[in-house]
Amino acid sequence: MSSSLTVVAPADCRRSGHTLASLKLKCGLQPHTLPLISVRYTTGVLLLLHRKHQPLPTIAMLIDSHHHLWKYSRDQYGWIDDQMAVLKQDFLVPELQQVAADGGIDGFVAVQAQQTLEETHTLLKMAAGEPLIRGVVGWLPLADPKVGDTLDRLASAPLLKGVRHVVQDEPDDQFILGKDFNHGVAQLEGRNLVYDVLIFARQLPASIEFVDSHPTIPMVLDHIAKPTIQVDQFDQAWEQHFREIAKRENLTCKFSGVVTEVRDEQWTIDTVRPYWEVALDAFTPKRLMFGSDWPVCLLKSPHRGWLQTVQQLAAELSADEKADLFANTAARVYNL
Ligand SMILES: [Zn+2]
Repeated sequence: MSSSLTVVAPADCRRSGHTLASLKLKCGLQPHTLPLISVRYTTGVLLLLHRKHQPLPTIAMLIDSHHHLWKYSRDQYGWIDDQMAVLKQDFLVPELQQVAADGGIDGFVAVQAQQTLEETHTLLKMAAGEPLIRGVVGWLPLADPKVGDTLDRLASAPLLKGVRHVVQDEPDDQFILGKDFNHGVAQLEGRNLVYDVLIFARQLPASIEFVDSHPTIPMVLDHIAKPTIQVDQFDQAWEQHFREIAKRENLTCKFSGVVTEVRDEQWTIDTVRPYWEVALDAFTPKRLMFGSDWPVCLLKSPHRGWLQTVQQLAAELSADEKADLFANTAARVYNL
């Protein structure tokens, strides 16, 4: 079976003599894009047929609820270490457009990767110029007593949909219960902003208390709270706390960032299936959203590979449930 990608071809692509690699470049595709097996021309359109890839099922709308953009620099992205060489490059709007074309993604939510207001403004600027970016989850100095003023200044930025702090990297596992931080989170009330909870599984117990303290603020649990995924050992402590936090009605969850939590070198759909089953059961498609965590997912999978994995995991769902998982939950929660 083959899948196809249709792109508008420059007129001179019709001339013979192009190699497949040069055709890809002419059409704005990276040379490493899926292998071509044949090229056909229709009027003004070049049809590229790929092999080795199952066609992606048609879904009315496809929203990727979690990705990042950055201009790489060693200083600003210190968390990218030598094991993560693939991330040491720029991932900006052209690369995102390529991902959208490859996977048939209609829209994205861009999420902060640095803890600076400058990055928040940069993401908002990129979103204003690129319709694929439907919203931004930015960073704000939540623990600053004057965060209300910062929020007032950002009130005129309609593409700011949420706020996130990298709680997972805080040395104190009780950070999420801190007084100043919680005062800041409480300021999100009534501002149409979501709080994205980024934690490791060990931080779930404190996070349950945190979510309980803000029952009227919509929150999203990133990356199913990062269980420790190993082929031969299921993370039971994660399941226990994850099912507990899922009972909070103001909380929804992203099925994203899962492959990067796999400790084994290799993974298959069966490696992540037990975690999918728990996440689906605990949150249901009405409160679960697809996300890629691109480009971080590249450490373990191309964007399209992860999308295809989730589509296969979700194959048993009804059309309405798929629509919730792949678009409607994200659109509703983030007000996209
Ligand atoms: Zn991420």
